[in-house]
Amino acid sequence: MDENPNNELREKVAPIRGMKDLYGVDFRKYQFIIDVATRIANKFGYQLIETPIVEQTAVFQRSLGDESDVVSKEMYSFVDKGGEDITLRPEGTAGVMRAISSNKLLVNNNNPLKLMYYGPMFRYDRPQKGRYRQFHQIGFEHIGEKSPYTDVVNIALAMDIFKNIGLCGVVVHINTLGGAVSREKYAKALVEYLNKYEQQLSAVSKCRLKKNPLRILDSKEPTDIDICTNAPKIQDFLTPDDKKYFDTVLELLKLWSIDYEVDPKLVRGLDYYTHTTFEFKIPNGSYQDALGGGGRYDGLLKLFGGNDISGVGFALGAERIMMLLNEKILPPLGRKVAVIPVSENEFADVFELMATLLDEQVPTELILTGSNLKKRVEIATKRGCSHLIVIGDDEKKQCNVALTEIDNPKLRNILLSKNKLISFLKEECNF
Ligand code: AMP
Repeated sequence: MDENPNNELREKVAPIRGMKDLYGVDFRKYQFIIDVATRIANKFGYQLIETPIVEQTAVFQRSLGDESDVVSKEMYSFVDKGGEDITLRPEGTAGVMRAISSNKLLVNNNNPLKLMYYGPMFRYDRPQKGRYRQFHQIGFEHIGEKSPYTDVVNIALAMDIFKNIGLCGVVVHINTLGGAVSREKYAKALVEYLNKYEQQLSAVSKCRLKKNPLRILDSKEPTDIDICTNAPKIQDFLTPDDKKYFDTVLELLKLWSIDYEVDPKLVRGLDYYTHTTFEFKIPNGSYQDALGGGGRYDGLLKLFGGNDISGVGFALGAERIMMLLNEKILPPLGRKVAVIPVSENEFADVFELMATLLDEQVPTELILTGSNLKKRVEIATKRGCSHLIVIGDDEKKQCNVALTEIDNPKLRNILLSKNKLISFLKEECNF
């Protein structure tokens, strides 16, 4: 038998590798990002949607593609008690497309449909700084319009969010994968080129050479990167229409004064992208510099039995943004009152006062711990209370309270009758 059962418990209660608890300043950062993103999305005409965290495995398998890293290596898939093959969502787009189809959200030509979602995603990846097994994404899908204008409006939406979060220096990396014809022509030329270097390619890339050659451009293996430096570029294989589409995207980015870099290697990891692909980066010398990314997807809804309707969307990584956020940008914590008894004799009085204050929508904390008044005031200050209301024997006898505003030397130990307290707090202290 284990001599110290607590040891076992301690091991068991550690979080799962690559997953972490979100609290304190980090939670406030997360909340801030969600609040800003929701406000900006609302300005751009988006509505919120929440889909379940688990879906049938086929939802992801079919839309992301068997060859994607996410499907081939990173999915948390289980057989549930009913024998159904289910997966914790590794990204949000597939679930949203499934929801559009399940709920017939696009009947009656209800387009364009603009949806925002946020929440945890799960990928069984190698954990490192900025890369977790549970992380949070904020995503946007704009369905039912195929136009370079729509692509750029989506990029502008993301840039507006970054601006309002206080992040400067975000650069849009952009590429096109063209339509099916351009892509086929390009894939052929790329395979011809890469065939010459087959022996030097990494094992994964060798395998992709047969199944999904464009993904080799995305490889992080140094030899693959070297080989790809002189590979043909998709820009030289675009049909005139696809070229015009991409040129227009770039012109519109300039028109909106958005900084961009064309990156011919930006193929993104998932199968569903066509035409414009983009990523938002702040250069920091590591591979974890992408704050988000997305692109156009044509035909994705059709996979779920919906119409053949085109869409464009992107997802931002909350943790990556949180890493760059300075705490100072967070909205200040709200003002709140501490009600403090001088001794146990006044416990009931402060308790009653607390009920009245809360009823009047004044944020209030009851401070009972601490062995004496000085300690209780310290605790209230540490908890971020802006105002102290103290009741002792004298105050109690005269139906008074003593009010102090911590950062205001003019408001120290002001004696107020209980009847006047609420109006004083509202009129003089802006509660
Ligand atoms: P993706 O769906 O892979 O295009 O990811 C979109 C964004 O989500 C990325 O640019 C990252 O900011 C973030 N992200 C993706 N995977 C992870 C991860 N494992 N941990 C933390 N953030 C991630």
